Amino acid sequence: MSDASLQHWPQDQLEVVGRCPVCSSEDIRNLESGLIDRMVAPATGEWNICICSDCGIAFLSPRPDSESIGTAYKHYYTHTSDKDDLVSGRLRAIKKYFAENYYAAANKTGAPAAYVIYVVMRILFPLSLYFDTKSRHLFQVRGKPGRLLDIGCGNGEFLRFANRFGWDVVGLDLDADAVAEARSGGLDVRAGDIDIIGGEEKFDFISLSHVVEHVYDPAELIRTCYALLNDGGTLWLETPNIESIGYLLYKSNWRGLEPPRHIMLFNQSALRRLLMSSGFVSVEQKNHGLSGVYMGLASEMLLKESMPSGSVVDGGIRKIRIFLKILSLELIQLLSKKRREFLTLVAIR
Ligand SMILES: [Zn+2]
Repeated sequence: MSDASLQHWPQDQLEVVGRCPVCSSEDIRNLESGLIDRMVAPATGEWNICICSDCGIAFLSPRPDSESIGTAYKHYYTHTSDKDDLVSGRLRAIKKYFAENYYAAANKTGAPAAYVIYVVMRILFPLSLYFDTKSRHLFQVRGKPGRLLDIGCGNGEFLRFANRFGWDVVGLDLDADAVAEARSGGLDVRAGDIDIIGGEEKFDFISLSHVVEHVYDPAELIRTCYALLNDGGTLWLETPNIESIGYLLYKSNWRGLEPPRHIMLFNQSALRRLLMSSGFVSVEQKNHGLSGVYMGLASEMLLKESMPSGSVVDGGIRKIRIFLKILSLELIQLLSKKRREFLTLVAIR
């Protein structure tokens, strides 16, 4: 066990969640106990996750109250690194080359070679599903680029991307360092939560990338997004899926749990219902290609750490077993909408 579990989160800064925070059902049961923060420079405390028997969402209980949760983000990483990049070094340059050509073709502004790359990626479809998700399906939005709001924009990487393709962008983040970095490119990035956006401002595209699992009232956030969108506008949303094949396989070592920062973990039906009840007229589930590979590799690392030191032999057999496990994770998430690692949804107002 790491030092994190030895120190408790202050008792008077914890709140018990006695009913489902999404459907208010009191029919809840324990899902995971004794979890600790497994990230670098972890937050203190030991955590339980409950699940709602009615709607199936999972939630931290007890959880840090909203005044104290900030301490769990002191060493958060979104503004210092590309948090979900699969590659590093020279591979990163190659990926950048393919990404730039792929997006240029998707935007219909590519050189002839870009279209060749685009078609090859489409044939190797987990790659195009991956690149489409990284672009937050921006090229599939109908009509001309308009105003875009990225909530939880981190270092502004997506804002710069969207801006390059003609979108008029606004970013929001709670982290002052992230805001400073995102602003350095001259973009309109504001420090605070969604309340600081005035009611008269409207957008054509709002994205919530890995945000709803962090907030205390996701229903309210989604309703506010709906109100800020023009008719026909798009809400793009992605969050870990508690019914994923990865969670079934790795349980307490699944990368998506991330206590205590992830206070709520959705499934497809509950999140879809929440969007529809907020007024969205259509909700489409997308496939985040290679998410089985990414979550599998990240969860394997947590699984290895959880084993007694010296008990893991890094031999060929173990490597083959991990390879087959991750391959099946990716295949299942490609085939089963319910079991995908992430809920990647596009909702239209
Ligand atoms: Zn519920």
